[in-house]
Parts: sequence; structure tokens; C-alpha cells
Amino acid sequence: SKYTKEQILKEAKENGVEFIRLQFTDLFGIMKNVAITFSQLEKALDNDCMFDGSSIDGFVRIDESDMYLHPDFDTWAIFPWRKHQNAQTARLICSVYKADNVTPFEGDPRNVLQKVIDQAAEMGYGFNVGPECEFFLFNTDENGAPTLETNDKAGYFDLNPIDTGSNCRRDICLALEEMGYTIEASHHEVAKGQHEIDFQFGDVMTTADRVMTFKHVVKTYATKHGLHATFMAKPIEGINGSGMHTNMSLYDLKTGKNVFDDPDGELGLSDTAYSFIAGIMAHIQGIAVVSNPTVNSYKRLVPGYEAPSYLVWSTSNRSCLVRIPASRGKGTRVELRCPDPTCNPYLEMALCLAAGLDGIKKGLKPAPAYDENVFALSDEELHTKGIQCLPGSLAEAIAAAEADPFIKETLGNHVYSNYISGKKAEWDSYKTSVSQWEINHYMINY
Ligand code: GLU
Ligand code: MG
Ligand code: MG
Repeated sequence: SKYTKEQILKEAKENGVEFIRLQFTDLFGIMKNVAITFSQLEKALDNDCMFDGSSIDGFVRIDESDMYLHPDFDTWAIFPWRKHQNAQTARLICSVYKADNVTPFEGDPRNVLQKVIDQAAEMGYGFNVGPECEFFLFNTDENGAPTLETNDKAGYFDLNPIDTGSNCRRDICLALEEMGYTIEASHHEVAKGQHEIDFQFGDVMTTADRVMTFKHVVKTYATKHGLHATFMAKPIEGINGSGMHTNMSLYDLKTGKNVFDDPDGELGLSDTAYSFIAGIMAHIQGIAVVSNPTVNSYKRLVPGYEAPSYLVWSTSNRSCLVRIPASRGKGTRVELRCPDPTCNPYLEMALCLAAGLDGIKKGLKPAPAYDENVFALSDEELHTKGIQCLPGSLAEAIAAAEADPFIKETLGNHVYSNYISGKKAEWDSYKTSVSQWEINHYMINY
């Protein structure tokens, strides 16, 4: 670990940290936290901080609600946006333990991911992930509520010195760097009001933690600029939605070498890489309920907006589900293009890793690469080529997860059953709602 207990206590004291937020994530990807004062920090670092988990979505029943938070020392960070106030605030990301304080709570997404990391380690692999989070900035009204008006009219890689969107993006990048991120790129995305900030890849747990922190930081600075940031997948009909492309690679735990890289392999990829891709392809329909978790997620996964809908892989085209970016050597990786940033990154990455490992264990081989634009194919051509689709709705995604036992095995009974029943309730609520589209199409005609 980067920090010891003594170092954290010292840093807190020297910086006048008065409040420490102990953070964790619920099943549906929402960050939760409990704030403690400096006087309680030592106790928290000794894993002795208890909380009542009964009201957290998908956590526990009322009769078994006592839980302990075990802070991950590596996640110690002082919030940059509070730095110049008298009382500073810091945070620690925690794993959740049961009332006995020794058993990892099976409903904690971090613990689910840790289990799959351990399985990878048994096979001799470490897992690196680099996400590309996209988001929109919307103007707010006089009450501070989000409007449907985007903050700018710019497009891909545009720049505009008077654009408050780019000022906001700049502040976000600076804050993230202060919190230890290496920012690789920050740019305007294709859609108006849409942005992307990419941070350097890292080991999967660090990366999942960083995705959660990233969303928190983006929202915080948007508010400071009088804007509203949203990670919802498709806020505006007719233009691109927001993805969270997930770049993945396995490395050898002993040598540190990227095992997807093979200069002698086809396209410079190893058999392990191909099996990993095949494992992802085999399970992605079931994974979608986690990687694309909302009703709205499926409005992004339609042809024509650089988001995938068919199960094909390619080295080049952006309509595919899995793309192999050009870099090789240490940077050899597989980019999964369907996830969106509303997903719970711990569960999403756990499932992707487990699916890839399953492909390796079974020696699966993917169908040949498809380098043409798959969106141009007719239904008949798709059928003769045997090209399958991602689920078309949250309901289809739930059904696909139920049809693939791998999903339940990887998530464990507790997470699986609570997650699926939450998603079913979400779908039922949507199914019975009446939308503006229906009013527009039926109110006058009938
Ligand atoms: N915004 C697109 C999506 O929905 C991706 C654009 C890109 O290739 O970065 O996934
Ligand atoms: Mg992008
Ligand atoms: Mg990408």
C-alpha cells in the first residue's frame, strides 16, 4: 500500500482535515458515504467503523444490518475543491464487511470484483483497465435545476476560448491530477455539449475506484460552473450518446508482460487475446444488464451514433462491439465499446474479466474480424453471416442475464438476485409510464 495508517493520520493533521468521507458504492453504481470527524479517523483506519446497511439499495435486510467499513489506504485523497476552506475534507474508499468484521460482505460490488481478481491471479494474470468516460454539460435554470439546453454547440475536438464547457473541463482535469490521476486526453466529443476526459489505465480495482471518483469530481465542478453534468447514456434523441469504452489487457503477474501482445500472432495478438475476446463475445448479452443498466442505455445502442449494436469485433471500424486499437507492445488491448457510464464499474469490470478468463479456460476462438460497416447489412445478411445483436431493451437484457448462468456465478447469489429484481422493478415502472412520444403519435390521430 502507498500509505500507512501513520502517514494518513499525519497528512490529515498537517492539512487540517476535519471531515473524512468513508465511501462505497451500492449495487446500482451510486456512491454512498458516511462522514466522520478527524477524531474518529484512527478508529476507521483500524477497520472499526460500523454503519447500518439496512437502507442501502440492494444491501441487507433490517435484521442483519450492522456492517463494517474497511478503508483502502491507497484511496486516501483530500478533496481539492475544499482545499482553501478552513475545514478540509478527505475521503477513503472502503470495502464492506459483515457484522463479524472479518467476512467480506457478498453484496459489496468491490468484494465481487476482488473475487474475480483473485481468480485471475490464480491463473497468473493481473488485469489492467482504461476507461473512456463521456458526459454532457447542460445549462441550469435560475433554480439550479438542469435544463435540456446543452452548454455549447461545438463538435469533435473543437475549441473555443469563451466556452465555459472547456473552462469547466480544465478545472476537472486539474482537480483529478491533484487527486493523483494522470490525464491523457481531454476533448470535446462529437455531440454538442458532450465531453470526454481520459485518464491513464491502471489495475482494475484502482480504475473502478477512479471511475466512481471521476463522476463525483465532474459533477462537483459542473455545479461550480453553474452547469449540470450527466452521465446518462442518451440524454438527447438524434445525436450521439455517452459511452464508457473499456480498454482491457491482461499481464503476467511474474514478468509484468502484456500477454495480449504477440508480434508473431495474427494482427500482433496472442491466442490468449483471441480467447479473451471470444469469452467476452460469448457472455456480453448477459453482461449488458450491468454494462448498460438503464432503460435509457438501450436508446444509445442503435445504429448510426458510433455505439455498437452487433456482436462483431474489428481492428478498425467504430460500429463494432470490440475494437482492437492500433497500439501494440505494452499498449496492446481490447476495447469494449458497449458499456456506458451509468454502469457500476466494479460489477462491469468483474464480469468482463470473468468472461475473458472463461474464454481462456475454454480455449474459445472468436468468429473472424468484421471490418466493414456492420450497420449497412440487411437483416437477411446478418442472419446468413450469423451475426448476433446486443439486447434491444432493458427487458431483453434481463432475460439474457437470466439465460446465462455465468452471470449469477460471477456476481454471486446475493448481488445477482438483488440486482435483477431491482432492474425488473425499473423496467415495470417504465413499461407502465406514458411518454411524450405516445402523446405525439396517438393523442390526435385516435
Ligand atoms: N459517443 C460514442 C458512444 O456512444 C463514442 C464515440 C467515440 O468513438 O469516442 O459510444
Ligand atoms: Mg469518445
Ligand atoms: Mg474509444
